[in-house]
Amino acid sequence: MNQTFSDAFMNTYHRLPVVFTKGSGAQLTDREGKSYLDFTAGIAVNCLGHNHPALVEAISSQAARLIHTSNYFLSDTSLAFAERLVQACRKAGMERVFLSNSGAEANEGAIKIARKYSQTKYGNGRHRIVSLKGSFHGRTLATLTATGQDRFHPDCFAPFVEGFLYVEPHDLAAMAKALDGTVAAVLMEPVQGESGIRPLDPTYVREVARLCTERDVLLMFDEVQSGMGRTGTFLASEHYGVPVDVVTLAKGLAGGVPVGAVLAGKKAADVLGVGDHGSTFGGNPLAAAAGLAVLNLVDTPDMLADISRKGERIMETVRRWQHPAIREVRGRGLMIGIDISTDAWPVLEKALSQGLLLLSAGQKTLRLLPPYIIKDEEIERGLAILKTVLDEVIR
Ligand SMILES: *Cc1c(COP(=O)(O)O)cnc(C)c1O
Repeated sequence: MNQTFSDAFMNTYHRLPVVFTKGSGAQLTDREGKSYLDFTAGIAVNCLGHNHPALVEAISSQAARLIHTSNYFLSDTSLAFAERLVQACRKAGMERVFLSNSGAEANEGAIKIARKYSQTKYGNGRHRIVSLKGSFHGRTLATLTATGQDRFHPDCFAPFVEGFLYVEPHDLAAMAKALDGTVAAVLMEPVQGESGIRPLDPTYVREVARLCTERDVLLMFDEVQSGMGRTGTFLASEHYGVPVDVVTLAKGLAGGVPVGAVLAGKKAADVLGVGDHGSTFGGNPLAAAAGLAVLNLVDTPDMLADISRKGERIMETVRRWQHPAIREVRGRGLMIGIDISTDAWPVLEKALSQGLLLLSAGQKTLRLLPPYIIKDEEIERGLAILKTVLDEVIR
């Protein structure tokens, strides 16, 4: 029973050697009964930790009642979820939502909204999407193309989707030049996640927003990782106080049940009409029940304040070590990046063997995305393991 690999899977993931059988709160248990502290939350998905009683109850009772209806018919649960989600995103100016199953699909929806908005108003050809270098937007062909990293664009997958261009983050002149009258939208992550937890500078975001408003280019925030309270506000966009036209969500949205959302504010809320877009599963009653349970627990002032407090606590503690292997600690809320002087992967492996799950973001950055419900004592215990592992790798 020591198998941690199977030929049944296509070989697409560099997996760590462990097979989990159950979880509870911020802890996971493997097949041998060994337990682990989870500082990854399934890549920002299990925001309420594992098997949260309210989420388990919502899913179980919904499953016993109604799992799926197709989007030709509404269910009471899908209706309640959509209304609650739009309410949570009102602060960012969102008015309507389309529900999908994943982050990439949510971004596909955003790209379609941008193209239709722009080309209906200004004619065909004004369809390009500007994204930032170092961004990550998904694995479908269009979102892979939108992803501003060359390593995601190998020739074997060519041809990529036409109409995407990339600018360096924080280079305003490059952005101003890119928005040349052929551009429908700017798509960006308020905190770049996959490439190293890099929050965008507020002055830069305000200037980009100003350019977008002036040139009638949609400003679209990919909050698939940074949304759902992860940074201490419900949407990371709220930190910037700029008018946003489109927001996408997924990862933490239903605490582990697949669901995604593309939300739009006044300018874009009515762009898609009947037949323009669809999804068989998107936001079905089961996913909606999970999403509603998560929203009710996460979108509260107490929970959001607790996320900020825990994030500060982690960043302060790690900075206080002044560890020789650490170059920089940055982040917002419970979305934290730690640049180290060695490769991240051996750190992940060693941490795993000592009972701590970590992620990387790029070659030399550790990525911490703990569940919101993690206890202070668990934070201390996990950080102690991290420190021991860092001591070992530089020795
Ligand atoms: C994970 C992620 C995606 C893709 O989400 P999937 O659910 O894997 O399709 C898109 N954008 C960002 C910012 C992400 O972190």
